[in-house]
Amino acid sequence: MNTAGFGPIRLLVIQPTSLCNLDCSYCYLPDRQRRKMLDLELIRPILRRVLESPFLGDGFTLLWHAGEPLTRPPSFYDAANRILAEELAGHPTLGINQAVQTNGTLINGAWCACFRRHGIHVGVSVDGPAFLHDRARRTRLGHGSHAATMRGIATLQEHGIPFSVISVLTRQSLQHPDALIDFYLENGIAMWASTWRRPKG
Ligand code: SF4
Repeated sequence: MNTAGFGPIRLLVIQPTSLCNLDCSYCYLPDRQRRKMLDLELIRPILRRVLESPFLGDGFTLLWHAGEPLTRPPSFYDAANRILAEELAGHPTLGINQAVQTNGTLINGAWCACFRRHGIHVGVSVDGPAFLHDRARRTRLGHGSHAATMRGIATLQEHGIPFSVISVLTRQSLQHPDALIDFYLENGIAMWASTWRRPKG
């Protein structure tokens, strides 16, 4: 196999569940209404495949994503980090940056403690002010999710947890650039530079 041009591995996405508590109109995940769960014991072989790969570089980001990762409990990530620490023990110089991409609606104090405990960087999906966000980002009953996402962001800020956001730009939001920028500025939303962190188990 000609491997020229491949690697190094920079991103490992693990889907802890297919389930999401929202039902955004642009979502591409077919099983978001089903509670399929990643078996915790699969994390070990996934990591081993990466760690033995010829494309392993000096570090990578492990991103918990696809479905709503916070529909699994903090204890899942505690257990996953114990496995991570065990598997990384033989790779003392390898950098690991853990991240989670969440819709933010389930963030509470216990989640902030979990993020801090494991050095997990938080990315929140928010599409700007409510009149833009709630066009697509709704519950299964059709209610907008903006208020719940902003409660999650406020909780992160109260607990001093740095976070970044991603926003889907639509035909409508591109007509309101000032409203988007004002939203980010008024809510203290700015990019955060992530750093390598190793799990402590
Ligand atoms: S929050 Fe994300 S995973 Fe959930 S429905 Fe919306 S786009 Fe899909």
